[in-house]
Amino acid sequence: MKSLLAYGNDRVEIIESQNLTISADELLIAPIMTGVCGTDLEIIGSKIDPAFVHYPIVIGHEWCGRILEVGSDVTGFSQGDRVVAEGIIPCGECFECVGGNTNRCTTYDEIGFTRSGAAAQQIVVKAHLVHLIHDNVSHESAALVEPTAVVTQGILKVAPRIGAKVLIIGDGTIALIAAKLIHNWSPDLVHMLGLKAGQEELAKEAGVDLFMTTSPVEKYDLVIEASGSSLRISESIRFLVRGGTLLLLGFTGSDIATPIFIDDVVNGDLSLISSFGYSRSSWKATVDLLNSGNLDLTFLVTHRFSLSDFATAIESLRSAPAPRGKIAFVIGN
Ligand SMILES: [Zn+2]
Ligand SMILES: [Zn+2]
Repeated sequence: MKSLLAYGNDRVEIIESQNLTISADELLIAPIMTGVCGTDLEIIGSKIDPAFVHYPIVIGHEWCGRILEVGSDVTGFSQGDRVVAEGIIPCGECFECVGGNTNRCTTYDEIGFTRSGAAAQQIVVKAHLVHLIHDNVSHESAALVEPTAVVTQGILKVAPRIGAKVLIIGDGTIALIAAKLIHNWSPDLVHMLGLKAGQEELAKEAGVDLFMTTSPVEKYDLVIEASGSSLRISESIRFLVRGGTLLLLGFTGSDIATPIFIDDVVNGDLSLISSFGYSRSSWKATVDLLNSGNLDLTFLVTHRFSLSDFATAIESLRSAPAPRGKIAFVIGN
């Protein structure tokens, strides 16, 4: 079987290896569609905090697949089922896991970071982390469960009020998913402060009422930061009404400091809330939402490549012009 292996320092290659084997509590899955994102670029370029990656690593943490083989102790799954698997592998025993905060499990372990990912023809996962995807859900939507669970986790943490005025900063996948998802909390309006004018059409498809590339004059109850731009984060404090909330989802880079006017934060009685990854419950909530038919993210996948075309896929991730949504490998069906 083939897999896409990253060695760090921008060295990536397709390797051919033996078919994988499973234990009694595992599933062997053939990835169908595997998205790539900025974090994959950081893994490839060794730009990520080394504590979070074990090299060499098969990348691919945003994916859906089809079951090839079911472990002897596993019930509830059959060969041919279409599934997604939680990427963060919680230990289930530490105080964070017991408290339901599995995104903060004290033993960090994640598919595509510390263990082999899904930019491959096969992947092995523990069955208890696997969820069935209904037939009405597209491969594209299913492959986007991972980034969507990240957004779900953040939105659940800030618990937006009905009728909130919402600004989303950024126009990448996380920003576009946030725009789509926030509608389930009945906002009054959703604006997007993007980086590239060419993203406007995708933003409109995500339900954005107003797309802009220069700072807004309006004030918002909730600002969701998904650009990772230090400059944008600094100024975002001034986009909030008093009592407003800033939800930080973007990464600026581990060596970049972001200046913030603390007086504005205190005078404004603002809440600055960050969110990391997703818990098991956010993942399940995301899968349930897709399976219910109340969320469709098919529009978001704009670029598709075969695994052997990885160099073009990575180059597109770096520099494909707008409109650009998710870039994905189509590996199976
Ligand atoms: Zn990602
Ligand atoms: Zn744990």
